[in-house]
Amino acid sequence: MIYQKVALIGLGLIASSMAHAMRGHVGQIVGHAKSAETRATALEIGLCDQVFATAAEAVAGADLVVLAVPVGAMGALAAEIAPHLAPGCTVTDVGSVKQAVVAAVAPHLPEGVHFIPGHPMAGTEYSGPRSGFATLFVNRWWLLTPGDTPRAAVDQLTLLLKAMGAKVNEMTPEHHDQVVAVVSHAPHLIAYTMVGVADHLAQVSNSEVIEYSASGFRDFTRIAASDPTMWRDVFLTNKDAVLDILGRFAEELFVLQRAIRMGDGDHLFDYFTRTRAIRRGIIEAGQDTAAPDFGRAVSK
Ligand code: NAP
Repeated sequence: MIYQKVALIGLGLIASSMAHAMRGHVGQIVGHAKSAETRATALEIGLCDQVFATAAEAVAGADLVVLAVPVGAMGALAAEIAPHLAPGCTVTDVGSVKQAVVAAVAPHLPEGVHFIPGHPMAGTEYSGPRSGFATLFVNRWWLLTPGDTPRAAVDQLTLLLKAMGAKVNEMTPEHHDQVVAVVSHAPHLIAYTMVGVADHLAQVSNSEVIEYSASGFRDFTRIAASDPTMWRDVFLTNKDAVLDILGRFAEELFVLQRAIRMGDGDHLFDYFTRTRAIRRGIIEAGQDTAAPDFGRAVSK
């Protein structure tokens, strides 16, 4: 067993997928979530061997603690569990932003506890304990920002993540936040905006939007259905990187807008040729398939 006792704090999409994926690789899995309803569901569907009404009780004696709650809730949870953590245990998180989580969590953790911030680059638009599935992380990147945490602790966590099917990479929290602003956060904001635009369009009725929505817009609506609490916290905590990317996005959009207005077909053709090459690179890297399937897991 890679860990003897894992405590999952938060029992939503990511934690429940982890519970399914780590079965057989760890000993006991215990959990805590805010609501009694989620805790009861987690027991009922066998996600956890035991659930606790408080996070403090759940982490007692665990050699791995996973914070799988919205980014804005991590600091208060860290303060609550800190006095109850076993000496030498590893604490990781799955938050979509890293600098803000490090700033909120690290100051609370006692000496001797190994903090390894992490972020699985996988997800769906669904939430809650019933939404998880064992293969969510297969062939997906799991980014760690371990700083100067001892190598043995990082290697042990990496072993578990790889056993769950993930590919693991390490970087600084600053670099992580810039990368995800480009590949995940700004695209989500654009999807939210596009769905909002369609909703406000007087000339196109809602029924037409739903009836005729093909690939592009249907994909946007799927992304825009993602959890509002999670995404509010992401934008509030990765503000600078997201604003930087949105500024660049607006500049590129103006250039394309001008090309359309001026009838500059060469510009549009060259631009779309370059973007098509990026898409082909993603498929070649195994991060998506060429199949037109709109219901599969996406990078978050
Ligand atoms: P989710 O399905 O909405 O689940 C969140 C869980 O956290 C729920 O079980 C909720 O409990 C619990 N929770 C919230 N506040 C809490 C608190 N103060 N104390 C204890 N439990 C609390 O969320 P998720 O999609 O798994 O996301 C969890 C984390 O993973 C977030 O930080 C997110 O940024 C990150 N992440 C998400 C994705 C994605 O695609 N969804 C991808 C990568 C990373 P109740 O059910 O009782 O409310």
